Amino acid sequence: MRIADLIPTRKPFLSLEFFPPKDRDTWPKFFEEVEKLKALDPLFVSVTYGAGGGTQANTLDIVTRMKNDLGLEPMAHLTCVGASSDALNGFLKAITEAGIQNVLALRGDPPKNVENFSFEGQEFKHASDLVKFIRRGYPDMGIGVAGIPTMHPESASLADDLKWLKHKVDAGGQFVVTQLFFENELYLTYVQRLREMGVNVPILPGIMPILSMKSAEFIAGLNGREVFGGFYEKLEAAFAKGGDEAVRELGLAHATSQVQGLLDAGVPGVHLYTLNRAEACLSIMNNIIIR
Ligand SMILES: Cc1cc2nc3c(=O)[nH]c(=O)nc-3n(C[C@H](O)[C@H](O)[C@H](O)COP(=O)(O)OP(=O)(O)OC[C@H]3O[C@@H](n4cnc5c(N)ncnc54)[C@H](O)[C@@H]3O)c2cc1C
Repeated sequence: MRIADLIPTRKPFLSLEFFPPKDRDTWPKFFEEVEKLKALDPLFVSVTYGAGGGTQANTLDIVTRMKNDLGLEPMAHLTCVGASSDALNGFLKAITEAGIQNVLALRGDPPKNVENFSFEGQEFKHASDLVKFIRRGYPDMGIGVAGIPTMHPESASLADDLKWLKHKVDAGGQFVVTQLFFENELYLTYVQRLREMGVNVPILPGIMPILSMKSAEFIAGLNGREVFGGFYEKLEAAFAKGGDEAVRELGLAHATSQVQGLLDAGVPGVHLYTLNRAEACLSIMNNIIIR
């Protein structure tokens, strides 16, 4: 079923994001983690593509197994950077044949292995081009798009970024999943600004628990430290006192309080970046009170 049609059926809901492990030998363990998280009855699950070198084939195999073997409603992430319409058609055809009805339409980051990569002359320059392409060729496909509450690093201003997000939604994006953030106020202000601009689709807050200092450093490297607000200093202080165990404890407590705060603020649901770690996600959700 299309996620846009599922969202109104349950409030609040939980959705879960996974990444395909590169090494197929570890897939049995990966699917065990997914199976454990079924206990949380997610409205949908999403599977990333490309980031960190994953392949489209892995994303396709995993969403297919999630749908057919586990009875979950999966969404495949799809990036269009450097892709041809033939290649994108191949993937969209394959997921359609596998019964997958949802795609997160993304531009993706410029490839690191191509020197002086330029979007000029590319068939697809923005995620909105992919949204339009899917809408034209696969009118029944559910389409989500990405939003970044701290704004995309390539944007000149948040206002500019919001304008282009609205453009993606107007082109056919049915809901937005946000990049991770660590201060709920940032998300709530973001949603308010989009509502004032007439963006009325669901905007799902993305929450990631920080489970180690290495993971915090990785995220800061990708998105800049400003994505953490003041939380980074707290993580550093915890690490100095009690190492990664203290970081994990703080990370889980923070994610739990964020999820609780968002649900109390009346969000439609929460999108949890699982990091493929069932135990951490279960510990967060088992401490949530639905009022
Ligand atoms: C929830 C989520 C999931 C993600 N999953 C993955 C994944 O699985 N794999 C992966 O590789 N990456 C993933 N990413 C990262 C994403 O690919 C990068 O952030 C990428 O740099 C931008 O993708 P986008 O879809 O937001 O691009 P766009 O919407 O195209 O935006 C990119 C930049 O261009 C601007 N822009 C957009 N449209 C226009 C226009 N028409 N004219 C001028 N400027 C425009 C925007 O303001 C922004 O600055 C994910 C991000 C999020 C938030």
